[in-house]
Amino acid sequence: MKTAIHWFRRDLRITDNTALAAASASADMVVPVYILSEWSDSHRWTGPHRQQFLCGCLDSLAHNLRALGGRLIFREGNAVEELRKLVLETQAGAVFFNRDPDPFGRKTEEELSRLGTESGFEVIGCKDVCVHEREDVLTATGDPFRVYTPYARAWAKQARPPVSGSLRALRVPDQVHSLPPPALERWGLTRSGEIPEPGEKAARGRMKKFLESPLAAYGAQRDIPAGQTTSRLSQDLRFGLLSIRELFAKGEARMAELSAGERGQAQKFTGELIWREFYINILWHFPAVLDQEFNPKFRGMAWPGTVKDFSRWGEGATGFPIVDAAMRQLNLTGFMHNRARMITAMFLTKDLHLDWRLGERYFMQKLTDGEIASNNGGWQWSAGTGADAAPYFRIQNPWTQTLRYDPEGRYIKAWLPELRDVPAERLSAPPAPGDRLTPGYPLPMVDHSEAREKTLEMFARQKEITAR
Ligand SMILES: Cc1cc2nc3c(=O)[nH]c(=O)nc-3n(C[C@H](O)[C@H](O)[C@H](O)COP(=O)(O)OP(=O)(O)OC[C@H]3O[C@@H](n4cnc5c(N)ncnc54)[C@H](O)[C@@H]3O)c2cc1C
Repeated sequence: MKTAIHWFRRDLRITDNTALAAASASADMVVPVYILSEWSDSHRWTGPHRQQFLCGCLDSLAHNLRALGGRLIFREGNAVEELRKLVLETQAGAVFFNRDPDPFGRKTEEELSRLGTESGFEVIGCKDVCVHEREDVLTATGDPFRVYTPYARAWAKQARPPVSGSLRALRVPDQVHSLPPPALERWGLTRSGEIPEPGEKAARGRMKKFLESPLAAYGAQRDIPAGQTTSRLSQDLRFGLLSIRELFAKGEARMAELSAGERGQAQKFTGELIWREFYINILWHFPAVLDQEFNPKFRGMAWPGTVKDFSRWGEGATGFPIVDAAMRQLNLTGFMHNRARMITAMFLTKDLHLDWRLGERYFMQKLTDGEIASNNGGWQWSAGTGADAAPYFRIQNPWTQTLRYDPEGRYIKAWLPELRDVPAERLSAPPAPGDRLTPGYPLPMVDHSEAREKTLEMFARQKEITAR
C-alpha cells in the first residue's frame, strides 16, 4: 500500500503502539493524524486539567514524530468526516487505529467501518488499550464476568500479546494540510504547574522510577494517601503514553529481581492493573452503566441530598478533614489518591445522600486521569450499586478511615494548611458540639451515624420497591 492513515486517539506514543506499527509495516507512507473533537460538546466528561495534559501530550507526540522524520497532522471536528476528507486528500488505502473501549469511541468506529465499506478503503482497528479486551475473557458459558476475582483468574490464564518496541522512522507525505496544534489559550485556559509533566518521555521516566523502588513496598503502602505510595501512572495509561503490555512486561521483569516478600507486595500492583481491565470489560459488555445502576435492585433510587450540600462537598468545606483534604487535592492538582476517592465518593452518596452520577461527572471534569470505565466503576463500587461493589451496608466512616490511613494527619495537613497546628488526634474524631478545629474551619455538616442509618433505610426501601 502506498499510503495509510494512523488515527491517534488514546495512544499518544510511538513505543509499542500496535496500530501505528501495523500502519507503518503496511504502507510506504503514513499520515499520523489527531482529530480534536469539540470540547464544549463533551462538557460532561472533560475539564481543564485533562485538556492541559492532552495539549502537552500532543506537543510531545509531534516532537517525537518529527524525530522519526515525520510530522503530526491536526484536524478538528467530527472524526469520521475528517477521516473521510483525509482519505480523499491523501488517497490513503487504509485507516489504522487502536480500538477505544468506551461506547462513544465504539460508535465512531462503527460509523468509520461503514464509511470504509461504502467508499472502498480499509478500516483496521487494533487491540492496544488493554492486554485482554472485549470477548477475550469470558466465563465457561461464554458470558461476561460480573465479579472481579474469577475475572482476574481467567484473565491471568490468557496468553499475553508481545511488546513490539519503538518505531524507527516514519515517512509522511508532503502537502498534507494541518491545523496548528491545539493551544490552551483558545479555550480560555491557563497553564497550571500542578499536573504531571505530559508526554511519553515523562511517562517513561515515571514508570522507571516507580518500578525501581515503590513497587517493592506497594501492597503495604498503597492505601496511605500521604506522599507517593502508588505509581501515579494513571494519566499515562489514560492517554496511552505507556503501553500496558510494556508496563506488565517491565513490572514482571522487575519482580523477578525482588525478594519473595517484596514480590508479594508488587503483585498487588498487577491486581490493580487488572481492575482497570475489569472495569473496561464491564463498560464494554454493559454500556448502560453510564446511565443506570449496574445492580438492577437499585435502579431508580431516590437520592434526597441537596444542591447546597453538593457545592460544599465540591469545595472541600464539609467539616470532615479527610474529605476536605481530598477534594482540595483534586481541585488543585487534578489527582486524588485511590483511598481518598473511595472516602469522598462514599461520603457524597452515603453521608450526603447525593446521586453517584453527580460525583462521577465532577470527577470526570477534574481528574487528569479521568477515564470513563474506571471512574464509573469506582463510583458505582463506592455507592454500592456496581459490579462487585462494596455491599451497600458497608459504609466507610470518615473518622475511622482517617485513624487508619492518616493517623498523623500528614495528608490532611498537606492539603488543609489551616489545620497544620491542630493535634492529629483531633482530626480523626468528630469534635464536641460547637468545638471548631480552627476559627475559620466548618463544623461537620452531618452526623455520620445518623447519615448512615438514613442510608440503610434508603437502600432497604429501594430493595422492597424493586422486589414488588
Ligand atoms: C470513585 C473513584 C473514581 C475513580 N476514577 C478513576 C478514573 O477516572 N481514572 C482512573 O484511571 N482511575 C480511577 N479510579 C481508580 C484509582 O483511584 C486510580 O486509578 C488511582 O488512584 C490512580 O493512581 P495511581 O496511578 O497511583 O494508581 P496505582 O495504585 O499505582 O495503580 C496502578 C494503575 O492501576 C489502575 N488502577 C488502580 N486502581 C484502580 C481501580 N480501583 N480501578 C481501576 N483501575 C485502577 C490505574 O490505571 C492505575 O494507574 C477511581 C477510583 C474511585 C474509587
